[in-house]
Amino acid sequence: MKLTFHGAAKTVTGSQHLLEVNGKRILLDCGLFQGKRKEAFELNRSGFGAGKDIDCLVLSHAHIDHSGNIPTLVKRGFRGDIVCTSATRDLCAVMLMDSAFIQEKDVAFANKLRRRNKQKEFEPLYTREDAVAAMDQFVGISYNRRREIVPGVHLTLVDAGHMLGSANVILDIHDQEQGRDIRLVFSGDIGRSGIPIINDPTVLSEGADILIMESTYGNRQHPPYPESEKELERIVNDTYRRGGVLLIPAFAVGRTQQLVYALHKLFLKRDIPRLPIYVDSPLATRVTDIFRLHPETYDSEIREFLLAGNHSNAFGFDTLSYTQSVEESKELNFLREPAIIISASGMMEGGRILHHLRRRIGDQKNTILVTGWQAPHTLGRKIVEGEKTVKIYGEEFPLRAKVETLTGFSGHADRDELLAWAGAMRKKPARTFVVHGEEEAATALAESMRLELNFPSVEIPEPHQSFEV
Ligand SMILES: [Zn+2]
Ligand SMILES: [Zn+2]
Repeated sequence: MKLTFHGAAKTVTGSQHLLEVNGKRILLDCGLFQGKRKEAFELNRSGFGAGKDIDCLVLSHAHIDHSGNIPTLVKRGFRGDIVCTSATRDLCAVMLMDSAFIQEKDVAFANKLRRRNKQKEFEPLYTREDAVAAMDQFVGISYNRRREIVPGVHLTLVDAGHMLGSANVILDIHDQEQGRDIRLVFSGDIGRSGIPIINDPTVLSEGADILIMESTYGNRQHPPYPESEKELERIVNDTYRRGGVLLIPAFAVGRTQQLVYALHKLFLKRDIPRLPIYVDSPLATRVTDIFRLHPETYDSEIREFLLAGNHSNAFGFDTLSYTQSVEESKELNFLREPAIIISASGMMEGGRILHHLRRRIGDQKNTILVTGWQAPHTLGRKIVEGEKTVKIYGEEFPLRAKVETLTGFSGHADRDELLAWAGAMRKKPARTFVVHGEEEAATALAESMRLELNFPSVEIPEPHQSFEV
């Protein structure tokens, strides 16, 4: 039996691990590399290790760094099943389309310059047609429904508590060559306890023989979630008193819905004033519809909220509107009264948030609330670091708005939570492979797993490195 780590090895993105057993090839995730444009462009094309001769793809969750290269795999001839939860399947239907649209747009922009320089034009990595075609191969299953995916390999998906539909992947393998039964667990991304809407991560008390473990925050701690809801209340009221607009750049998937639900609860308790709230991101609006379709993934708190107050919709209330057209979005520029605008992209690198920032960033009445990690070199990072002026659409703007950050909304387990999750395993994995983390985070987590959890063998694979297991 062989494991090869084609992506998310010593980095966070591009999750892609290949398991070869019983003459079959099972791919775990097929994510897109994200990062510096040129490097990502190369990696997503040539660095794509797993060829078309894959028998089955198991997808842990819908985030693009796990799912975003599926259309490429299908384009190259993969015809097997793509097995994931039903919620992941539905999210992929909108997220892969959105990703394809970005791919097409990026290439169109680059080609304009290349045509001028008489250079060969690029093809998009994949198109919206490719994304639609890939959806044909998805097989949505529920959590905890064991299913044979190739002869001798049974798959169970359990709730990872990281985003809607996210799963830890459990493979119970009868290795015919060596005549043994082993359990392989692939963590996918692990969530945190107490975050709203979705369940807490599942405790895998039985353990595993082989573990592939994420390490995004292997060296960091987050404040507990309830504190962040309190902070949100303070920030809304503070901006309201200053007569300003609260601008929240947020990831369209997960973060926006968490914020909307948190604001809904604060509004019902009258902890925040009655003020207009706008969700101004077409992708976030489509994703919110999918959240409504999957109450089977909700935790008990949101179920009680829906039952107790007789609310049919956790993501809608009378002061909240989802804007659709570009015109509606631009009309928000004329708002003079206090309001909340939630818009994408989360790192402020594109999307409608940019025109809102242009309009609001120069006025100290307003607040920019950052709720997610900001990659180096992004506009979001510059704003968090408090640069005096920032460039938006090539134009300089003074940063006078108040900047606040909330890290407790993270969907990722922090260091202690990762160790608690792995440490709950009664059977300690004989081999652990630490993936999905920058080198520092992966090294710190691997060290803690050896020293604090006494895991016997913890390795950090290099990109494309193979292991006989
Ligand atoms: Zn994720
Ligand atoms: Zn991830």
